[in-house]
Amino acid sequence: MGRGDDDDDIDQEDMEQVLFQGPMFGRETNLKQNPRLVKAALVPVKKMISDGLSRRAHTILLEPSQGRVAIRFVVDGIPYPAGAIPGQRGMAMIQMIKVLAGLNPQERNETQSGGINAEFEEVRYELLTDTTLLKPGVERLKIRVENPKITYLKPADVGMPEDLSRQLRGFTEDSKGLILACGPPESGVTSLSICAVHCVDPYLYSVYNMADVGGKQLTNVADYEPEEGHDLELSFDRILRREADIIYMPPLTDPAVVQMMCQFADRLCFVAEIPAKTPAEAVQQLIQWVGIDLVNQHLKGVIMQKLIRTLCDDCKQAFRPNPQLLKRLDLPPETTILYRAPAPPDPDDPDSPSIEELCEDCDGVPFHGRAAAYEVLEMTDGMKEVVAKGMDPQAVKEQMAADNMRTLQKDAIRLVVEGRTALEEVQRTFAPPKGRRPKTRRRSPPSE
Ligand SMILES: [Zn+2]
Repeated sequence: MGRGDDDDDIDQEDMEQVLFQGPMFGRETNLKQNPRLVKAALVPVKKMISDGLSRRAHTILLEPSQGRVAIRFVVDGIPYPAGAIPGQRGMAMIQMIKVLAGLNPQERNETQSGGINAEFEEVRYELLTDTTLLKPGVERLKIRVENPKITYLKPADVGMPEDLSRQLRGFTEDSKGLILACGPPESGVTSLSICAVHCVDPYLYSVYNMADVGGKQLTNVADYEPEEGHDLELSFDRILRREADIIYMPPLTDPAVVQMMCQFADRLCFVAEIPAKTPAEAVQQLIQWVGIDLVNQHLKGVIMQKLIRTLCDDCKQAFRPNPQLLKRLDLPPETTILYRAPAPPDPDDPDSPSIEELCEDCDGVPFHGRAAAYEVLEMTDGMKEVVAKGMDPQAVKEQMAADNMRTLQKDAIRLVVEGRTALEEVQRTFAPPKGRRPKTRRRSPPSE
């Protein structure tokens, strides 16, 4: 699969345009089989995706609504409207993207998933493309933008605090046990679990990968392909003979796999994702799969992260926090400077400049990028007792506080103290979602 599916002469625009370099996952596409679609929709699709990438969108949504297709760019977790395309043209764009991703454009009644390899401004991107059915024949298309390089950065590169990477490194030091990463969808759980693997000291330990990471190579990690006919037990045996210390596993979903991991967890250390929204849920899931005793015997800890928008460095404003605020946030009284977003322009004052005029860097948002706040549930002796007694959620909280564990809220305040985000943004991030309706009522698809 190479370049060439795309007609490079097609656009002569001033703005640099994205290059499509063929579908992902070994799929194939043939634009020549869809000449009308290409004529109608390739250029608008290129423009839209180029626009999205230049605005740092990590998700692009195309959603049919009231005879149009509404486009939204999600930047740093916040969706922004990016225009609405009249019906037929909008639908053609959805079909065009499906063709580019190697999906079947005729199929409009089943969800499909694929991806497009792309390049924009000399950066490679993976555009993971999913369709979901809104009603028969009407589908919503979602593109998740991944920069393959960014996903595999080192702990320090993603802003993981040194004491946290030291703690995670500590979990791996005896080459035993289970280390899990969890979190809600789109909270970067895969990146987090890979980051945990990258906390290991590569000069002292040998690390193997058994997960599918999209054909990429993890830094200082050797791939392990199970030999044909070998089950997991034999594979773990073989990997042990290669003097492996740590194994990065595929996301855990199968109890039998987790039980086998526990059989080897006194000789190997496993790092994996587990589908759970919080560390406490993750522990409960693990208990369901292997029972309390094995959890207490082998689990080292569970880590999660929450992404919080960081202030634009160009327009953030310093202020001197008053003593009450410092006390409320449990900050050292000698803290002299915190940062906040600039006040929005006064609409009643014609002379007041708009934020756009004030800051070219962030277009007045005034946030740029996101940073992670972390939480680590460590299996201390106290926590093992809580687990043995049945994992009461309140008891988990109290134990985390008693053992001074890192929690999302506490760690988010670290980002405030470091001047990377504003207190208001932390409060917004942790506020319960607005307009949540009772579960019994049918929800219409989001249309904002
Ligand atoms: Zn700014």
